[in-house]
Amino acid sequence: MFEMECSAEDISTEGCSMKSDRAQRKRKVSRDVELEIELLLKAVPQLAKVFHIIDKIGEGTFSSVYLGEAQMRDGRRKMFALKYLIPTSHPTRIAAELQCLTVAGGRENVMGVTYCFRKEDRVVIVMPYIEHQPIVDIIGLLSFEEVRLYIYHLLKALKHIHQCGIIHRDIKPNNFLYNRKSKMYALVDFGLAQGTADTQIELLKDLTGLCKVPRPVFGERNLNSCTPLRSTTKQAASKRELVKLRKTEEPAPRSPLPVRTQSSSQKPQKTLQQGLTCSCYLTDRVCNICMARKQQVAPRAGTPGFRAPEILTKCPNQGTAIDVWSAGVILLSLLSGRYPFFKASDDLIALTQIMTIRGSRETIRAAKTYGKALVCSQELPRQDLRTLCETLRGRRSSRDNNVSPAAERSHDETLTHRPADPNLQPHRGGETTTCLTKQSSVSGGEVEEEELGWDIVPDEAYDLLDQLLDLNPSTRITAAEALLHPLFTDL
Ligand code: ADP
Ligand code: MG
Ligand code: ZN
Repeated sequence: MFEMECSAEDISTEGCSMKSDRAQRKRKVSRDVELEIELLLKAVPQLAKVFHIIDKIGEGTFSSVYLGEAQMRDGRRKMFALKYLIPTSHPTRIAAELQCLTVAGGRENVMGVTYCFRKEDRVVIVMPYIEHQPIVDIIGLLSFEEVRLYIYHLLKALKHIHQCGIIHRDIKPNNFLYNRKSKMYALVDFGLAQGTADTQIELLKDLTGLCKVPRPVFGERNLNSCTPLRSTTKQAASKRELVKLRKTEEPAPRSPLPVRTQSSSQKPQKTLQQGLTCSCYLTDRVCNICMARKQQVAPRAGTPGFRAPEILTKCPNQGTAIDVWSAGVILLSLLSGRYPFFKASDDLIALTQIMTIRGSRETIRAAKTYGKALVCSQELPRQDLRTLCETLRGRRSSRDNNVSPAAERSHDETLTHRPADPNLQPHRGGETTTCLTKQSSVSGGEVEEEELGWDIVPDEAYDLLDQLLDLNPSTRITAAEALLHPLFTDL
């Protein structure tokens, strides 16, 4: 477990001429990074009194993270992560991120904060440094036991922040630092956090207005431009029409199916009720009538592949369950050995990918419980999670009994936009995607898999996965409940 080991008072501001120390000699920093470090020191000059900045270790949309070394009062040198926030961040947003770290951090696998520097609108948050390995680098090496512990510790962090009334909103491996060797875990990045109704984080209350503003994302299709709800018979008719249209006029569609959502409580506009029928229903166009509709507002921060179905369908009431869904996606990724599991460029594709795994009928039924009408042009069957994961791990061929041939294909073609070429092998790594190479049944590969415990994954693992990936947020298991799941009885 991660604990905060020191406070700002322990850091010395005197002996910081460490220009030729061990750490720096070990690292070779590019000229670009050197320049960035110079700019950082110019922007926040106080940093130079305390830290020797060694390298840049992370870059996100809203920040750059640097590795800094400080001399402690007792003579030791310690490493820190310095998160330099982009100056355009809203001041309340920055303060809220800090408050999450100070109120909830430093225990229960949640990153703490040591200090914060500010000069004008430039803010640097100083945190203890945790050396960690990106999941994409180690996913193929992890044993089942390591995966079980990883998820346990992630759920522990989630239980804690949820008890504090924090919805993290961006749960993904990049924000859950993991040191495989020392078994350290730390949840970071409260840059998108929101408060629950009874949050302990005062500043998150002030953010409610700020977060509600939907941020249009370039290149993403608009989920709001939907057609009015029609009677089921009309729906069925349109559905037949679409299928017919595709058969006669278009080549076989590439994986993402047209999916539309709308709030069933949303009243169609008067003109529409008077017989002006919208012409874009179940097509991939947006007609003028729909263009004129009022935007539905719902928070949608986060990373598409980790977004819960209620975010993707713009349900305005989102709670801590969205973090639990993301933890489920991480577990699915770890059990199947594929990272990222869902690779979606927009919300509709992400929703279709979820349907491919969890079933379209089930997704539609769940969305209905929170007032969203969803239409899918083709029925996608729910997949058995064990079969899916074992097939993707190469432990089963899709020709085995009881294995849906769609299981493997659905990942390799639908989920990562592969062309439907039967000669294509499952993807074998690449710039951003990692998967296990297929094990041959006679080679040493299988022995290794067995040593890592992948031959005896208990049913409990898939049962927990099923409950984390519950399409209905109101019945989805909570982090606190998940920690009591039989998978973790011995922990
Ligand atoms: P962003 O909001 O830009 O995503 P994060 O807080 O997620 O910023 O940090 C970006 C990256 O920096 C992380 O994914 C991680 O690799 C690294 N990082 C952040 N905090 C720490 C820390 N305390 N120790 C080590 N690395 C960190
Ligand atoms: Mg991050
Ligand atoms: Zn329309």
